[in-house]
Amino acid sequence: MVGADVRVLLFSGGVESTALAFQHRPDRLLTVDYGQAPAVGELRAARHLAGLLDLGHDELAVDAAHLGSGDLVGKPKAGHSEVSEAWPFRNQFLITLAAMKYANCGLSEILIGTVATDRVHADGTPGFLERIGALIRCELPSVLVRAPAIHMNTEELVRTSKLPDELLGWTFSCHRASVACGQCRGCNKTLELRECLAREEQ
Ligand SMILES: [Zn+2]
Repeated sequence: MVGADVRVLLFSGGVESTALAFQHRPDRLLTVDYGQAPAVGELRAARHLAGLLDLGHDELAVDAAHLGSGDLVGKPKAGHSEVSEAWPFRNQFLITLAAMKYANCGLSEILIGTVATDRVHADGTPGFLERIGALIRCELPSVLVRAPAIHMNTEELVRTSKLPDELLGWTFSCHRASVACGQCRGCNKTLELRECLAREEQ
């Protein structure tokens, strides 16, 4: 695939990246299996959602499980963070992989699904986004790294994007396994979101 102005969204098949895919309709969705425990579940959701959205979908496997920490690899919490799913340099790694994959394909924009509540992670802050964008532009001067929902919470993003329930129902956000465990922060956030949206509809 070689084109111009190719916009790529890092697509885990979770609520946030699905809402952005629906709202922004990027040229490519990229799902990375980097060795995370829920990779099979993420890929299954991502493939199905990409089909429903009728968007081009690419998959990339780069196993970094031996370098991971926390819930996503079934290991103890990362030393630098108080958050159970933190994985050192995870977003930096995934954004770099996307830049590497599409560097020769007319890449113009890398979109990520960071939301305001991701500020608990060092790589989920506006400062990180600004710096990773500058870093990518050292090598690819015209490429933007954007997180369109960085100032919204997930509920606001779902509402703003007008993500239909049929798509929301296929999203997958567990941190620990390929079938929702119902106990991790990812599953809990999904349950809270559903309750919140259900209350609004009443
Ligand atoms: Zn879970």
